[in-house]
Amino acid sequence: MDRFVPQVHAAGDVHTSLIFAFNEAGDLLLAAGDVPRLPPAEVIEGAAGIGVRIHMGRMGPAACVAAAGPETAPEGCCYRGLRELLTTLDEGVLGLAGRARQLLAWDRDHRFCGRCGVRTEDKEGERAKVCPACGHTVFPRINPAVIVAVLRGDRLLLARNGRFRGNMHSLVAGFVEAGETLEETLHREVEEEVGIRIDGIRYIRSQAWPFPSTLMLGFTAQHAGGEIRVDGMEIVEAGWYGRDGLPPIPAHGSLSRFLIDTVLGLAPEPAPAQRTEGTR
Ligand SMILES: [Zn+2]
Repeated sequence: MDRFVPQVHAAGDVHTSLIFAFNEAGDLLLAAGDVPRLPPAEVIEGAAGIGVRIHMGRMGPAACVAAAGPETAPEGCCYRGLRELLTTLDEGVLGLAGRARQLLAWDRDHRFCGRCGVRTEDKEGERAKVCPACGHTVFPRINPAVIVAVLRGDRLLLARNGRFRGNMHSLVAGFVEAGETLEETLHREVEEEVGIRIDGIRYIRSQAWPFPSTLMLGFTAQHAGGEIRVDGMEIVEAGWYGRDGLPPIPAHGSLSRFLIDTVLGLAPEPAPAQRTEGTR
């Protein structure tokens, strides 16, 4: 697959388009069928009710476009939630879909200046919206959040959030608050949610999480003191688990699962045999 080059305006010789169309609910328009792939551009172009279009950049000969899709999927197409596509959509296509989803949400949420209420305009040559009255400029905003695999010996801290379905357990996670360092967020979240102290914090990797505009930063850490005491609000249950006897954990494709697999030495993500080439 060609490398994606971000652009604010279409430039260069493009012969085709990859259109990432989302409905109001934030679901991606795909061609109907078992293997998820984007519908042909002309099918989307020809659909009634297609709204905002944002040029994101190019990939080889293809312009990559985010679009507000029609309310009803055109014939031969269907809308699918991005979360359920985490393990089945090609990684490069998934990344662009997440980018498109975030840009569309940003475009929708900043049509008017938050400072003086005047309608904003797209800034020339930059991914930004500017207010013609007061000059206030808004860039797409990413919200950082941390997620941490805390180990005590060879056992891993897993917690059940009250919002999770069934008996699903995952890692402690939370948003970075204004003024905090990532380390401070980690200490605070772990202390708040399960009442323990940690040390030996180590950064592992990150994942764009476009639900709606989060950057997840993944860490490992060691238990440094205290016994589990759940907050009873966000976290209703938590415990130390070895690789045998794990409760249900998040599916492959998420950073939480990657961290769990890594620290417990579980089998890595299965090869994406069913993944599509993404383009036609
Ligand atoms: Zn203004």
